[in-house]
Amino acid sequence: MNLLYNSTRNAEKKVTASEAILKGLADDGGLFVPEYIPKLDVTMEELKSMSYQETAYEVMKQFLTDFTEEELKHCINSAYDSKFDTEVIAPLVKVGDTYHLELFHGATIAFKDMALSILPHLLTTAAKKNHVTKEIVILTATSGDTGKAALAGFADVPGTKIIVFYPKGGVSRIQELQMVTQKGDNTSVVAIHGNFDNAQSGVKEIFEDRDLEKELAEAGYQFSSANSINIGRLVPQIVYYVYAYAKLLENEEITSGEEINVTVPTGNFGNILAAYYAKQMGVPIGKLICASNENKVLFDFFRTGVYDRNREFILTSSPSMDILISSNLERLIYTIAGQDAEKNAELMAQLREKGAYEITTEMREKLEDFAGGFATETECKETICRTYEHTGYVMDTHTAVAASVCAKYRKDSGDGRKCLVASTASPYKFIHSVMTAIDEKYASADEFDLIDELSRISGTEIPKAIEEIRSSEIRHSRECEAGAMKDTVKEILGV
Ligand SMILES: *Cc1c(COP(=O)(O)O)cnc(C)c1O
Repeated sequence: MNLLYNSTRNAEKKVTASEAILKGLADDGGLFVPEYIPKLDVTMEELKSMSYQETAYEVMKQFLTDFTEEELKHCINSAYDSKFDTEVIAPLVKVGDTYHLELFHGATIAFKDMALSILPHLLTTAAKKNHVTKEIVILTATSGDTGKAALAGFADVPGTKIIVFYPKGGVSRIQELQMVTQKGDNTSVVAIHGNFDNAQSGVKEIFEDRDLEKELAEAGYQFSSANSINIGRLVPQIVYYVYAYAKLLENEEITSGEEINVTVPTGNFGNILAAYYAKQMGVPIGKLICASNENKVLFDFFRTGVYDRNREFILTSSPSMDILISSNLERLIYTIAGQDAEKNAELMAQLREKGAYEITTEMREKLEDFAGGFATETECKETICRTYEHTGYVMDTHTAVAASVCAKYRKDSGDGRKCLVASTASPYKFIHSVMTAIDEKYASADEFDLIDELSRISGTEIPKAIEEIRSSEIRHSRECEAGAMKDTVKEILGV
């Protein structure tokens, strides 16, 4: 059976999976969603013994039904290879009483690699299937991690160009260095004078600009997105929740059918939405715990049913979660509105015009799979420090937000189910915040000295991604105002 996709703002028009991946965003500004969430057609018993790649095939074949087995397996095997520093791709580590699913073993040491290492392959395969002859221009706004992961994924991929916008001053020094040293003739990196939401809105506006689309088409270009709104990012993220459950079962940490909770450090709501889809595919997941930092729009939303972005934007030590508009939430809103595209479009219009919307009581009742929590900067630091002192394990700031929320949830709710924490970045990536959380004496130290120190105190090897930026030259220094992103794109493409 062929699974089709429609926009969250118009349920009438259907497209195939490969068309949805190519377009990224629907013409009406909505996000592509599958008509229904397919069920796994293999048992957990069977999944238990499967490799990451085999699991990926079992999950992705259900969603990307217009890809052949050969195409899909080729994409999977090209993505999940020696770019990852471990054969298991996403290791599970028991830390105290929780299980950390480490999603940071790819090329850029953050969880974005899990999807962005495969997206270029899905996209170029989709282009071939749909007889696209234009050059594909990937436009991406990043709060730090997506940008580098997308650059690494698309660098020198024939038939593509990639332009990444990041907020100047809104990413860590390591993140910035990772991006501005990116190699590849088809890569461009631009620092905007504004925050992540400005960057994201700018990119969305460019996508929705029909005149620009025409102009570019004449010049032989077509846009696509590597942001987590692309269904080609979301689907590969479902895989690791299925895989993690199967491995917990294989390691006899849980019994067959036992429900586990999952805590996800959340920004754009892509990662946790993937966990929600995994649950709907049949993985025994209890609560999906959405962990926010001090930018706690989502926490307030789950508590009150009101999504309100009208508030101060706070720069925290978990910058990849410093987000006030969580794009992927639109897919959940559409679902809890009973797949009512009109209703969803209305709410999204309110978000655009007033910066806020309120869902109905009926919709709120459908949110019972979720629990919201947030961690302050102090709580995040304490979690890193305490965990290190008790177990020797060092986690990054984003993961610490989740670990802190997970512990608070367990205590406050009395819910004793075992908990999986999505560990989204290597501590090496946010070295300064991580090391000062462990000991204030590191506050004035140089980031690169701290890297050696972290290796020493944690007994872990320095990741290749970090070694690389120590010696690479800076190749990108372009900056622009938040309002000038469209002109910058035209300039880069020479149109
Ligand atoms: C992107 C990112 C997040 C947030 O994930 P979403 O899918 O946007 O909710 C959390 N942690 C890290 C390290 C990230 O890079």
